[in-house]
Amino acid sequence: MNCALCRANLSNGKVNHIVDLGERIIIVKNVPANVCDQCGEYFVDTETAMKLEAIVEEAKKNKAEVFIVKYNEMVA
Ligand SMILES: [Zn+2]
Repeated sequence: MNCALCRANLSNGKVNHIVDLGERIIIVKNVPANVCDQCGEYFVDTETAMKLEAIVEEAKKNKAEVFIVKYNEMVA
């Protein structure tokens, strides 16, 4: 698998997924992803993307301006 942007090699890693809602920011930490060695872009698989979406929906109920959750705690 290669980076969709720069075609460099992807490595398994963990990233902080940041969702900017404008007035509020949701940060999901330690998301398993394929990270580009060259440009730092990351790609999550379909299953992870679906879980991320559910986590973000849940986090939207929280009114904090910055809401930080840990991926592994939310999917456990
Ligand atoms: Zn890249």
